[in-house]
Amino acid sequence: MTFETLGLSPALLRALAENNYTTPTPIQAEAIPLALAGHDLLGGAQTGTGKTAAFGLPLLQRLSKETPPNGPRKPRALILTPTRELAVQVADSLKTYGRHLRLNVTTIYGGAGMGPQMDNLRRGVDILVATPGRLIDHIERGTAKLDAVEILVLDEADRMLDMGFLPAIKRILGRVPAQRQTLLFSATFEAQIKSLALEFMRNPQQVQV
Ligand code: AMP
Repeated sequence: MTFETLGLSPALLRALAENNYTTPTPIQAEAIPLALAGHDLLGGAQTGTGKTAAFGLPLLQRLSKETPPNGPRKPRALILTPTRELAVQVADSLKTYGRHLRLNVTTIYGGAGMGPQMDNLRRGVDILVATPGRLIDHIERGTAKLDAVEILVLDEADRMLDMGFLPAIKRILGRVPAQRQTLLFSATFEAQIKSLALEFMRNPQQVQV
């Protein structure tokens, strides 16, 4: 199994080779073709399994295929993470995988000043990686606009629920277009996650490692 056989673009394959990724991990091999085909995904995976590339590569490929709109760009992909550390890590991975594409990646998270985050949002963003609470602050101030989101990723969904982010997540889900692709990754699938998936996802395909 190689990344070439998964249907990824030359720009992404080049970045992977430069990063010495030769073989897809099991979650990548399962998830990438399904996500590239446009399916919603329910991914069962712990950290360390390569799940960031499993959702990140199809996301980058989809955004890079369409011409970005003129003028300041609104986020077309939104990734929600439980913590600031994970947000930064996911954004760094996306920048690495997307180094030959021209897509802006920005992070917003709590415990840091609003000002610089507002400046970044104003300059235009293609991919927004955010923690739920701080994203709500930006939505309320009108600094984060989610009406152009085509792909939504819930990363470590179980941890977000453990941290009490369910109300924030539901509010955010109410702000993104219904016509979108949703990818949810979680180490566990208790009842709350299943009901979230039933309510907010369309015929999700399950991938498990
Ligand atoms: P993640 O589970 O996404 O946090 O990834 C765990 C670690 O594995 C990160 O350091 C990645 O850079 C690395 N990684 C992910 N996919 C691959 C791959 N296919 N080949 C080599 N390293 C990888």
